[in-house]
Amino acid sequence: MADLYLTNSLTGKKEKFEAINPPDVGIYTCGPTVYDYPTIGNWRTYTLSDVLLRVLKYLGYKPIFYMNLTDVGHFTGDNLGDADIGEDRMEKAAKKQGKSAWDIAEFYIKDFLESYEKLNLTRPEKFTRATEYIKEQIELVEKIHSKGYAYKIDDGIYFDVQAYETAGNVYGELSTLQKIKEGARVEPNLQKKNPRDFALWKFSPTGVKRHMEWDSPWGVGFPGWHIECSAMSMKYLGEQFDIHAGGEDLKSTHHPNEVAQSEAATGKHPFVRYWVHGAFLTVDGKRMGKSEGNAYTLYDVEAKNIDPLALRYFYFSGHYKQQINFTWDALAAAQTSLNKLQGIVTDYRDSRGRTTLSVDKLAKVNFYREKFEKAIADDLNMPQALSVFWEVVKANIPDYDKYDLIESFDQVLGLQLSKFTISNSQIPKEVQELVKQRENSRRGRRYKEADEIRRKIYDLGFKIEDLARGVKVKKK
Ligand code: AMP
Ligand code: ZN
Repeated sequence: MADLYLTNSLTGKKEKFEAINPPDVGIYTCGPTVYDYPTIGNWRTYTLSDVLLRVLKYLGYKPIFYMNLTDVGHFTGDNLGDADIGEDRMEKAAKKQGKSAWDIAEFYIKDFLESYEKLNLTRPEKFTRATEYIKEQIELVEKIHSKGYAYKIDDGIYFDVQAYETAGNVYGELSTLQKIKEGARVEPNLQKKNPRDFALWKFSPTGVKRHMEWDSPWGVGFPGWHIECSAMSMKYLGEQFDIHAGGEDLKSTHHPNEVAQSEAATGKHPFVRYWVHGAFLTVDGKRMGKSEGNAYTLYDVEAKNIDPLALRYFYFSGHYKQQINFTWDALAAAQTSLNKLQGIVTDYRDSRGRTTLSVDKLAKVNFYREKFEKAIADDLNMPQALSVFWEVVKANIPDYDKYDLIESFDQVLGLQLSKFTISNSQIPKEVQELVKQRENSRRGRRYKEADEIRRKIYDLGFKIEDLARGVKVKKK
């Protein structure tokens, strides 16, 4: 396994990655709250964890990856740094759409998984749904409670930050928010012992029948937002594991709370060795977000005839620790570059006749391989990796070797360059579109649909050949 360096939010420094049990790497990413379509900001974060997984694999590790789907009890107040206040997003969406919270979850989970596929993101061992792990969450709260780090008040069971600190722990790890250290200025819940305490379990309000609620040893209710990630990650990855990822906002309260409650329960430090946080996608310098009113979804992208994979390409234009400002022009430029690459790669693949490389050429091939590996191993430097990609295109080595290099680099980039083999110049756009649609159908195992598209392509005068390494399109 080659060395890998990652910026660890625990220390704020770039560190050499050491797995607990190599080559295995336990990795957990906070997934979406399934009450609405994700924004392309959210997708940037999921693409970061995908790249992390791909880089780990490329470097010889075996990632064991889990991602949760938050389908319950996530309050709107978390944008203000307090996840225990405001309205439950799931129930709010249900009310608005005249459905049950369960239907809302079902609908948006299906949608999420479809888009996940379109962006060619690596699937976890399992997408863990919070509502399927209520038992584990209750057990975890019981454990925290029995160790004296939780207490009950009228509206729920709360984590006792003071007790945790008194026992010699540091609360607020990862957080850059001074607030988490001092506590919120306005405390809406006067029964809380300390403004920093957060809910582990909330009771259903008296007289209100929630769509989602469960029995617990303390009363009917639902889990606090943070507890699900601790319960599900520890169930599958153990009480201590390697990497936890998410967007930069989660550093302020969600992740510090995960750390505190997990370590309170297990007594083991650190809960997670490396915390990897991705910077926001912004619009005019502000976070792209639904509540900010400046958000786009993957559907907005597709409506402009832009391939979701072009969005992937666009994300790679910035390092994950830097915010990227979104513009349609920049995304269109990414699409142009991607089209160009697809065309070039097709041409390389069609060039046959591999000859033995001279020593000089072999050294060149290795030079690019090493340069690429160095870029990705250096804190996932994707802009640098992309530039190596283009250097290969311009290099003085045989096309066949360029193809091999690009194909292996694409295991990390995930742009499916060897899949789409449309020799761009002679194929009309309409046919190119259909070929992509057919690939999507095939990837989604909707073979009937794929066959229908093939027929449409045939009617337009083109033939498709499925090759071991991709698809070839020819005039009839
Ligand atoms: P949410 O559904 O709001 O819980 O967010 C899901 C994930 O997307 C979290 O890891 C967030 O940190 C991340 N996220 C939210 N907004 C953005 C953004 N504008 N850019 C990148 N990541 C984001
Ligand atoms: Zn989480």
